[in-house]
Amino acid sequence: MEVVKKIYEMKAISLKARQNGKIIAFVPTMGYFHEGHLSLMREGRRRGDLLIVSLFVNPTQFGPSEDFKKYPRDFQRDHKMAEEAGVDFLFCPEVEEMYPPDHQTIVRVEKLTKGLCGRSRPNHFQGVTTVVNMLFNIVMPQIAIFGEKDFQQLVTVRQMVKDLYMDVEIIGMPTVREQDGLAMSSRNTYLNPKERKAATLLYQSLKKAEQLVIHGEKSVEKIINEMKKILTSDPLVSLDYIQICDTHTLEDVSSIDRGVVIALAAFVGQTRLIDNILIRK
Ligand code: AMP
Repeated sequence: MEVVKKIYEMKAISLKARQNGKIIAFVPTMGYFHEGHLSLMREGRRRGDLLIVSLFVNPTQFGPSEDFKKYPRDFQRDHKMAEEAGVDFLFCPEVEEMYPPDHQTIVRVEKLTKGLCGRSRPNHFQGVTTVVNMLFNIVMPQIAIFGEKDFQQLVTVRQMVKDLYMDVEIIGMPTVREQDGLAMSSRNTYLNPKERKAATLLYQSLKKAEQLVIHGEKSVEKIINEMKKILTSDPLVSLDYIQICDTHTLEDVSSIDRGVVIALAAFVGQTRLIDNILIRK
């Protein structure tokens, strides 16, 4: 595996690969790898001739009071894990090179980013779409792989690719979980043992919702109330939102009569976690 730091080097490598008819599979990440990231890399390895992973903690997708500075970073550990996953190039640009002082272009997807996490993180998704666009232009992949864990991000990136006629196929991969159901996340490292235990309530509430739907419940209000009962059973959890949305438009549904995503965000102690479950009909 080769580590690439400079944008012009990455572009030269990708251009050459494309000229040689290679399929580039790309996995954008912010590092501090776990099995969720590795599942994306394995899929990329399977689909591409060349597997490129970016490791870039993108400042523009963090709000002013969020955790950009303390976001977990461990280059040696990530390097080893990426190498073992069969990554060909690990692209780790510097913030100063990605965002020189005269950088002034933003890519924003409008409707899809208004609800869910967009409500409490107003500039988050424009930070994501801008950096993903920049990374696509540098890495030039034919295939890019994202996790369903960040479902709104996945749908938003798909919309951007469609709207801007970008030649990248977006692949979504299922959420990888710990044994007790907690969705893997680099932010789980912030949790102390009590919080870690309380964090399992997120998935428990989603499973409860799924059970209710399987048994025929159609009322969104009833499902959300049942989920709230579970989430409020521990004072360490404070809910940001629960929404039940159409999987394509991310608009709230009034009754479960089609494929939906049940999505939530909650603070566990000081740590904001998200999770979701897809219900296909
Ligand atoms: P991040 O490094 O958190 O920005 O995530 C990089 C990519 O990994 C994104 O496409 C995420 O959706 C995906 N990802 C993060 N956690 C998981 C998980 N538990 N299961 C599957 N994919 C994940």
